[in-house]
Amino acid sequence: MSTNLAVQAPTNALRLVTQAYSSLLLIAFALMPAQFIAYLYFQQDSTLKFENHLFHEFAIAVATLEGLFVTYVTWRCYQTSGEPLLRWLTLGFLGFVLIYSPHGALTGMAHRNIWLFLLYGPASRLAMSVLLFVGLLSYSQPSDEVEKRSDARAWLMWIGLFLTMDIAVALIAYSPYAGHPAVRLSMEGGALVFSVLNVAAMLTRRIRSPLMLIFGISVAWFAISSLAFMLAAPWNHMWWLAHAIFAGGFFLLSYGVVQAFRTTQSFSAIYSQEEMTARLAESMAETQRALQQLQQSNQRLERLAATDPLTGAGNRRHFIEHIGDEIARAKRSGAPLSLLSIDLDDFKYINDSRGHSVGDEVLRAFVRKCLEAIRPYDSVARVGGEEFMVLLPGATLDAACAVAERLRSAIEGAAFDVGAKPSVSVTISVGVSEFGRDGDTLDGFLRVADQRLYRAKFEGRNRVIVA
Ligand code: GH3
Ligand code: MG
Ligand code: MG
Repeated sequence: MSTNLAVQAPTNALRLVTQAYSSLLLIAFALMPAQFIAYLYFQQDSTLKFENHLFHEFAIAVATLEGLFVTYVTWRCYQTSGEPLLRWLTLGFLGFVLIYSPHGALTGMAHRNIWLFLLYGPASRLAMSVLLFVGLLSYSQPSDEVEKRSDARAWLMWIGLFLTMDIAVALIAYSPYAGHPAVRLSMEGGALVFSVLNVAAMLTRRIRSPLMLIFGISVAWFAISSLAFMLAAPWNHMWWLAHAIFAGGFFLLSYGVVQAFRTTQSFSAIYSQEEMTARLAESMAETQRALQQLQQSNQRLERLAATDPLTGAGNRRHFIEHIGDEIARAKRSGAPLSLLSIDLDDFKYINDSRGHSVGDEVLRAFVRKCLEAIRPYDSVARVGGEEFMVLLPGATLDAACAVAERLRSAIEGAAFDVGAKPSVSVTISVGVSEFGRDGDTLDGFLRVADQRLYRAKFEGRNRVIVA
């Protein structure tokens, strides 16, 4: 007991420490690009530039293609899960691609109208950060209807809006205010504010699912990249670093999207490893329960399929199967096996004079009396309307004849008190056969018993015929 406690205490403490450590790591990772910014800011001459237009065009072209791909994958996830967050994420990526690509395409304009070249960057980041923020606010809202997901008009309207923003940026770039620092800084600052708000909202809403963690870190990197852009001048190293930080955030978020695509196609329905393990255990237990239920209902069904619903005796199909097994056993062991073929006499008369339901009761009562007369390992089956068979493993013809006679006289002497007065009297005719002696095939064995039954009828009913 004491050793147990001694072992448990540090385990709990260790758990807390490891949990705190992993939270710290996440925070450190989310803020890591800030170190690079600090390094450049304090250690580098900010007038140093790397102005390579071809490289810039190439990088933006790659970013555009990647952006389109990620937009498409996100859109596919949204089509499946209808998660509003994924709709906003698709729009965020699409808006970013459509507003950002002129920034690459217009690299050549850098010396003619620097603003036409520059402003598409902050504008695209502002649009994306707003859309991602709205997306986060929609987190865990119910899924969109299927019609809404593929409503082409809404998507086209958004595309129109993004292209209008492209035109608006061009108009601003050619306006006298283009060079005012407030223009670029308000866009970049807006992007920064919305990304920070986004992370803050995630923290206050305590959203912790693994993909949302990736989402949160990506958005933190977007915020930090906006900070770097604000500190940068075109083509200097801070400016390139800002691009790299943004690309890092984008790659990370696209990793999340691809994970969603490859699993549940949803951002909220991805679980942590701990949750997965618990869910797995739960669903395995559930499977086990379902399996047991299935087995029980299978047994019930088998019983139903094997019995006659009126009397509860075995039915013909089951009896034939059973007789096959018993024949095989008798052949193996050499033990005798006998059969009674029974038919109720003048049963039609009982039906006609007392009614069908009295007839039914007589059939039930007959089976009960039959079961009383035989041993537990003998079996009775209803093979026709008022025709029955009794299989007697281990019984020779003589023994079977004795059973048949006992049954016949019990039935004859019994008052079938079936609820209606006066009680009904019933007699039976029985044919007996023994396997081997009266045929060594199933068909022959049955046929001989039936033939003897017909003879019993022919000879006046209420009798047992053995040979
Ligand atoms: P026999 O002595 O020659 O056997 O005369 P029987 O009247 O018993 O023979 P028959 O085969 O002419 O009639 C059998 C009757 O059994 C006819 C049928 O309506 C009745 N029967 C068959 N199945 C059921 C049932 O499930 N319930 C009731 N009440 N009657 C049934
Ligand atoms: Mg009959
Ligand atoms: Mg009959």
